[in-house]
Amino acid sequence: MLAGKTALVTGSTRGLGAAAAKAFAASGCNVMLNGFGEAAAIERQRAELAEAHGVTVAYHGADLAKPAEIEALFRAADEIASGVDILVNNAVIRHFATIDAFVPADWDRAIAVNLSAPFHLTRLALPGMRKRGWGRIVNISSVLGIGARSGRVDYVTTKTALLGLTRATAAETRGEGNITCNAICPGSVLTPNTEIKIAELAKAEGLSPDAARREYLKRRKQPGDFIAPARIAELMLFLCRDEARDMTGGALPIDTGRSASWLDEDT
Ligand code: NAD
Repeated sequence: MLAGKTALVTGSTRGLGAAAAKAFAASGCNVMLNGFGEAAAIERQRAELAEAHGVTVAYHGADLAKPAEIEALFRAADEIASGVDILVNNAVIRHFATIDAFVPADWDRAIAVNLSAPFHLTRLALPGMRKRGWGRIVNISSVLGIGARSGRVDYVTTKTALLGLTRATAAETRGEGNITCNAICPGSVLTPNTEIKIAELAKAEGLSPDAARREYLKRRKQPGDFIAPARIAELMLFLCRDEARDMTGGALPIDTGRSASWLDEDT
């Protein structure tokens, strides 16, 4: 059902974005990859996806902090097949500092990459989606779009604002046919970024890898285990199917009950 559609997935050179790109390609979608990384590794990823699934897979290295590069990324993706049908705003940068110590330039860059880039790509994607009467926008927020942790002001602010962008987009596209915009709010996902954090915790506190994993989850009050990137990618696919055409403007937690149980006394 998604076969032949074109999906632009930002920040898809690793982690959740890479899992999403793989899931879309496996569903028969053409994919535009974006993100940073080593050129040879990205080319390997691109070629493997294209070959394994018989779809067009392209890569554009736009820095999403730069509006002109965002535009170039969109134009390149829009040239694939009939244009960008699916937009997944997934790329992220993260800084770790309390508000009083936060470097203003880091704030500006986080707003640009995590929030303004999704706005610009949405702005650019909607005309084509309207013309074709079909479109899906999935914004990757976080449990930190629903609640806050200290030392994460850029992340918490941009992930919360993405929920506003999602609702505003849903409001402006409602009743226009088969166009939806939803946000996904994952808990802790086992991606390379998380693995680096777990390794840092293990080193800093002299923990075994297993103990560091458990401690990492405990500190975030996440029940159960980490969430597999592939399961979040499955939720993206569901939101893009015709069966989900009536769901729009949502903020869907996929967090093993973490956000639902914050007020539980025993967590
Ligand atoms: P990651 O750090 O592994 O990957 C981020 C991607 O964004 C990379 O491909 C990187 O190259 C790209 N990127 C960063 N800055 C960019 C820029 N200026 N221009 C273009 N690309 C840029 O991230 P992840 O852990 O896979 O997370 C993916 C999404 O899921 C993010 O939106 C994140 O907020 C969300 N999320 C992740 C977790 C988690 O536990 N990992 C939890 C909740 C939400």
